[in-house]
Amino acid sequence: MACDKACLVLGVEIQPVDSLPAKSFYSAYSRSRVSQMQQETPPISTAFLDELERQTRATVAAAEPPESPFDGAPQADLDRLTELVEESREDLVGVVRKLHVDPELAYEEHRSAALLAELVTERTGIPVEVGAHGVETALRAEVATPGFDPERHRTVAVLSEYDALPGIGHACGHNVIAATGVGAFVALAGLVADGSSGVEGRVVFLGTPAEEGHTGKEVMAAGGAWEGLDAAVMTHPFGYDVVDTLFIGRRLLRATWTGHPAHASAQPFQGRNALDAAALAYQGIGLLRQQMPPSDRVHAVITEGGTRPSIITGSATMQLYVRSAYPETLVDLSGRVERILHGAAMMTDTAVELEWDHYPPSLPVRGNAALGGRWVRSLGERGRPVLPAGTVPDVLAGSTDFGNVSVRVPGIHPMIAIAGPDAALHTEEFAAAAATEAAEKAAVDGAVGLAHTAWDFLADDELARAAREEFEAAGGALDPATYFD
Ligand SMILES: [Zn+2]
Ligand SMILES: [Zn+2]
Repeated sequence: MACDKACLVLGVEIQPVDSLPAKSFYSAYSRSRVSQMQQETPPISTAFLDELERQTRATVAAAEPPESPFDGAPQADLDRLTELVEESREDLVGVVRKLHVDPELAYEEHRSAALLAELVTERTGIPVEVGAHGVETALRAEVATPGFDPERHRTVAVLSEYDALPGIGHACGHNVIAATGVGAFVALAGLVADGSSGVEGRVVFLGTPAEEGHTGKEVMAAGGAWEGLDAAVMTHPFGYDVVDTLFIGRRLLRATWTGHPAHASAQPFQGRNALDAAALAYQGIGLLRQQMPPSDRVHAVITEGGTRPSIITGSATMQLYVRSAYPETLVDLSGRVERILHGAAMMTDTAVELEWDHYPPSLPVRGNAALGGRWVRSLGERGRPVLPAGTVPDVLAGSTDFGNVSVRVPGIHPMIAIAGPDAALHTEEFAAAAATEAAEKAAVDGAVGLAHTAWDFLADDELARAAREEFEAAGGALDPATYFD
């Protein structure tokens, strides 16, 4: 509310706070009160994390890399792919370093996208579409073997992410992801250009912007990015080499309660308090937590709660994230949260408007053990024993828009180590780790792993069949754009 001296609300005059005498007895009094209050946050115990770490260390020590029962591609092809990735080592290290010192946020990754596009074209002669699938900073390039027939042969996509986080740069290591996808595609294109392999198929390179806080891959879906694919592969930096770890689904929700403003002293009975509704909703969610499955999460903040104490709040807004480990449980949790928000409105005689998914939802990542086994084998060749799925505790789960790819086509999102086990994503420590020799090594090893796994998938019918069967058994194709309707 803009007013200089006084405002009229429902006929009642209100003095703005700044019209009070600035240096009064009251301000001196309030300072003396503050000094008696608790001044420091009590220390936060790390006991739970310590125990988790101890248990994980024991699990890791006993774990064996899972075996792949499939033949994959001919070893000569795989060796050649390794050679081709090694040949672009300098380029990949360049990508890791250049993106790290020039981090760009979601949907603003123009320089990063241009760098990757240039590199692919320079090394392969293949044109790269910048602004693919309706997203300005998305990339697409493709290469097919001479005898490729979409009716008989398969198509696999290799993905690069390259967005950073506000304030802390590449604290999720997407600069490394960028290098692995580009490195794999350049090597695969090189093998096709050799003409030495008998394998037929098509490889698509997709630069996928806006993962952090957004769902760029779902926006690309509306532009047809995942059509015509049989599988998709990418890797993500982490504190472990692990073939699969839990990524839970996430939906965004905005609730706006509308009540009636009134003078809080003179005519409170004429008011209907939207902040009360938000406060009750916040408590309702807190009480819900005990009755939620352990992998469910709800986070909420009140982003608008009124303007001054003397006015009953007419409008209040809450932003929420709702997360769950399975598509079906995310539907269930969404309903429970929604009813709490409506209940708060009923209790306060206010109206509530709910806006779901103002950024598209992310579904949980669906793993694929058939494809994952080939990744493990490839990384094993690089001297990296990869941990089996589930080694890293599920309680540490976040979300990624790759989930939406993994429910459309069989895919993998294995994690590759660039730091020690206690490294946490989205921290300054992890941002520093994304510029180390370990990160550069992971970029090269990851590129080899993705190139091998992609080529294995094109080459080996049995592997491809098993990957598809596993995908179908896990629920088959879902469309996240309509899943929650
Ligand atoms: Zn992240
Ligand atoms: Zn990330």
